[in-house]
Amino acid sequence: MATKTTRTKITFECTECKNRNYNSFKNKKNDPDRLTINKYCPFCKKHTAHKETK
Ligand SMILES: [Zn+2]
Repeated sequence: MATKTTRTKITFECTECKNRNYNSFKNKKNDPDRLTINKYCPFCKKHTAHKETK
């Protein structure tokens, strides 16, 4: 059966160089706030904090 999901597409932007490096999905019910994750940025050539954008 089809599962009901409320996935929203989100983009993660490097907080240092402002490049959008990652796309993901999230469940708005589980994560109503903006997410910040540590990811490798190929532009900064290091791990930086990536912030969710619209
Ligand atoms: Zn960067």
